Amino acid sequence: MTILETQGLKKVYGSGETAVHALRGVDLRVENGEFVAVVGTSGSGKSTLLHMLGGLDRPTEGTVRVDGQDLFALKDEALTIFRRRRIGFVFQSYNLVPMLSVYENIVLPIQLDGARVDEAFVGEVIAALGLDRRLRALPNQLSGGQQQRVAIARALAAKPAIVLADEPTGNLDSRTSQDVLGLMKVTGRRFGQTMVMITHNEEIAQTADRTVRIEDGRIVAG
Ligand code: ADP
Ligand code: MG
Repeated sequence: MTILETQGLKKVYGSGETAVHALRGVDLRVENGEFVAVVGTSGSGKSTLLHMLGGLDRPTEGTVRVDGQDLFALKDEALTIFRRRRIGFVFQSYNLVPMLSVYENIVLPIQLDGARVDEAFVGEVIAALGLDRRLRALPNQLSGGQQQRVAIARALAAKPAIVLADEPTGNLDSRTSQDVLGLMKVTGRRFGQTMVMITHNEEIAQTADRTVRIEDGRIVAG
């Protein structure tokens, strides 16, 4: 089953002579459970693509469907709700809430949605990411790698249709990056979670089910 599909996706920033064509017509399909790595040089359009896939910014042209829903047919408020329920994000900056404990951060999106926490499932995710002993800690008591593992747990906890990650290890040293990326991949597999991840890490990219290469706003391979 196709869980994510874009058609003719274009994004232009600015206009006239200073216009930047960040995406020049991207058609991408991701099947349920797939782990896709997106690679490309700096400025090639990776983050722009991820923002469109997650409904964080509207394209200039084209469509994005997530689990059958045309994202940009939704008004802002409905899009926000859809995103919270169906899309998990992991960014380079972990974006944890400093006053909340590890556990509270992990279940926050579920609680914001007024939904019930599936404690058994969340417990499994926490264990898979090796966070069991740190549940009461505050983010600033954790290492960078641990903070990113919390962000990954938070992204998985609501059982989203898709998890989108933009250079999730951009702030980590290479050893920790390997650990975190490896865990993310293994955890995704274990829970059958569809993931699209931007990465510079060629090793991880090669272990993905598929690598999509972007150059100058176009998919050139994958
Ligand atoms: P990548 O993530 O592959 O490094 P980006 O998607 O961030 O690439 O950027 C693609 C192009 O769009 C670059 O030329 C970048 O400078 C430009 N760009 C990205 N975001 C904006 C923005 N908000 N306003 C103007 N130009 C932007
Ligand atoms: Mg980027």
